This record gives sequence, C-alpha cells and structure tokens, in this order.
Amino acid sequence: MDEQTHMLFHTMITRCLAQEVAPFYQQWEDAGEIPRSLWKALGAAGLLGIDLDEAYGGSGADIAVTQLALEEMSRQGFGGLASAYNIHANIVMPYVQNLGSPEQKETWLPRMAQGDCLGAIAMSEPHAGSDLAAMKTRATRIDDGWLLNGSKLFITNGQVADLVIVCAKTDPNAGAKGVSLFLVDTTLPGFSRGKPIKKIGQHASDTAELAFDQLKLPANALLGEEGEGFRYLMQELPRERLGVGAQALGAIEGALALTLEYVTQREAFGQRIADFQNTRFTLAQIKAQLEMARAYFEQCVERYRQGTMSSTDAAILKLQLSELQCHAIDRCLQLFGGYGYTQEYPISRFYLDARVQTIYAGSSEIMKEVIARSLLGKTL
Ligand SMILES: Cc1cc2nc3c(=O)[nH]c(=O)nc-3n(C[C@H](O)[C@H](O)[C@H](O)COP(=O)(O)OP(=O)(O)OC[C@H]3O[C@@H](n4cnc5c(N)ncnc54)[C@H](O)[C@@H]3O)c2cc1C
Repeated sequence: MDEQTHMLFHTMITRCLAQEVAPFYQQWEDAGEIPRSLWKALGAAGLLGIDLDEAYGGSGADIAVTQLALEEMSRQGFGGLASAYNIHANIVMPYVQNLGSPEQKETWLPRMAQGDCLGAIAMSEPHAGSDLAAMKTRATRIDDGWLLNGSKLFITNGQVADLVIVCAKTDPNAGAKGVSLFLVDTTLPGFSRGKPIKKIGQHASDTAELAFDQLKLPANALLGEEGEGFRYLMQELPRERLGVGAQALGAIEGALALTLEYVTQREAFGQRIADFQNTRFTLAQIKAQLEMARAYFEQCVERYRQGTMSSTDAAILKLQLSELQCHAIDRCLQLFGGYGYTQEYPISRFYLDARVQTIYAGSSEIMKEVIARSLLGKTL
C-alpha cells in the first residue's frame, strides 16, 4: 500500500472513531457491551471486511488497512472494541471468506459487512483452552444435518453474536482429524448464552459462556470439510495473531503518547518528571522496542500478503508484541505515580486492557512451544 492510500485510510478511520466511538466509549465500558449501532456505523463506513471480496460486501482493500483499523482503535484506548473488531472483521469474516461455500458466503458475508450480523468464534471450553484437543463439544451426524451438544467458554462477542463458528468433535476417535467447524446461527433452538463474564479489563468487549443442547444444524452448516477443523484453525490462526500484534503496536503508541504528555507537565523535586534520567531512559527504551516490533510486524504483514507467513512467524510476533505491550504499559503507568492507578487517567485502562493479550489467541507459553517445536521438533 502506498503512503498516500495509507494516509487516506488513516484519516477515514480516525474520523470515524472520533465521531462514532470516542464520545460514547466510557458508556460502553460501563454497560459491558458495544451497541449494534456502532457495528452499523462501521459497516456504513466500509470498515467491516476491508480487505475482503467486494462481491460479498467487502471493500477489496489491502489487509494492512484492516490492521490499521485495529491499531488505531487500540492507540486511542479502545482496547475492548479492538478485540471485538478483531474477532468479527479480522477473524470470523476471513474464515467464512476463505473456507465457506459460495452459498455460505452469500448468506453471511454481506450482512456481516453491513454490521447487521455479528460474528464470534468458539474454540475454548471449560476444560480445553490451551489444550484444544481436549474439547468435548460434539457434533453428531443425523439424517438431515448435525446435532450439536456441549459448551464453550470465554467467547468474545458471545453475548451479541448472530453467527458463531463452533469447533466440535465429529469423530472423537480420529484425533486431529476428528474436529470440524460449524457455522451456527444463534437463533436456532438449543443455543443459549450464560451470564456475561466479568473481566478486569476490555469491559466494552463482551465475553460469554455458550451452551448447545440438542442443537439441530442443517447439513450446510459445516464450514469446509468434515474432519479438517484443526487444519483450518492452523491456517487461520496467523491472521488472528497478526491482529493481536496490531492491537499491541497501537496500544504501546497510545500509552507512550499519554505518558510523554504527562511527564512533561508534572514536576517533582523542582523539575519535570521528564527530566529525570530514569524517565528519559524508560521512554527511549520503549520507543526503541516499539520500532523494532513494528519492523517485524510489517514483515509479517508482507509475508501474509504473499501467503508465506508461517505459524512460527505468527507465534514470534504474538509472543513478542503482547509481552512488550504489557511491560511497556506497566512502565508507562509507573511514570504517572499514584494518578496512573486511578480511573481518572486513561493510562489505567491501557494497563488493564493489555493484560489479556498474552493469554488469549494462544498464551505466551504456547507461543514459545510453537517456536521451540520449529527449532527442536515436537517435545510434548
Ligand atoms: C477476554 C478473553 C477473550 C477470549 N476470547 C476467546 C474467543 O473469542 N474464542 C475462544 O475460543 N477463546 C477465547 N478466549 C479463551 C483463550 O483463548 C484461553 O483463555 C487461552 O487459550 C488459555 O486457555 P485457558 O484459559 O484454558 O488456560 P489453560 O490452558 O488452563 O492454561 C493455564 C496456564 O498454563 C499454561 N500452559 C498451558 N499449557 C501449557 C504448556 N503445554 N506448556 C506450558 N504452559 C502451558 C498457559 O500458558 C497458562 O499460563 C478468550 C479468553 C479471554 C480471557
């Protein structure tokens, strides 16, 4: 993407966030939910399905623009919105586009691009988080489709989603070949949602427990081929991790900007906080790490574009950027002193929103396993 196009999109995204999000965001944090009207507004601005096929309502732009939207949301301190957006527009929509039949794409994508239909993806379960193979949710073949039973935990957008991509075992004896993906319409009988899960951060993004009780799915709810679910997850996970990386970059930049402003105004011992060597070195270190991280992120975006971004690339990116985000924002908050620990100062929200980034989309420990396996082979 050339510099001018990038600038154009950046201006458009920033304007949309200033008008449609900034004035209301605290309300959504308090309510624990992003209203439907925002998804409609993002759809109307062409910000849902930015790099997806125009034939299905996408905007046909570069994938870097989708990442830019995620980055900008995070830079402005809308961490919960960024996660909800990552799931809907950077994960679920691409799954449907890349794996769906023409009929499935026609059914779901145009409505998702307009913000009329919201997406979620349900992999994790109470006893199957990092260890997804331990999942118990089961889809059994019946004459005219599938019968789905089980439950899922920690599902972003779960309270409001109209479409959930559900991972379920279709053959419990087939190991990695026994998992399939389903497009689950949440209006079907047998689908239910538990109470919203109360989190320490990213409050605007709702996180839910979902249950499936004798839920009858039509045959065409199967996404892709039976038994290929794990392969599809491996194929699509790099993009999810790219999104987490974009969120991290934006959040670090946003936190750094807030901190620069604060330390140049606040004084102690007759000088600005900015004039202490510790402050200068802390901020310089964050800036240096940020630039290195951005260079690797951009390399990954290019590899993704070329179809060569590997799961190891994605693991390195996710591990380094999410850990850097937590560490850098912690150091930024420190420079605010006691004020940083209050809700009055937005740096506290950056801090709380950051924490989950090293946990979801594959924890740091799992990222290290993926990287180690690429070096040493499988050890577990
Ligand atoms: C806010 C939020 C949103 C989420 N959104 C979604 C969503 O939309 N869809 C979805 O499917 N899931 C979602 N998740 C779930 C998330 O992906 C899981 O929480 C995550 O994969 C970790 O699983 P777990 O919580 O069961 O932890 P566990 O797997 O129980 O892990 C506990 C600890 O053990 C470590 N550990 C586990 N295995 C190993 C190992 N082999 N080696 C070393 N250490 C290990 C982990 O790294 C972690 O530190 C979300 C979670 C949160 C908190």
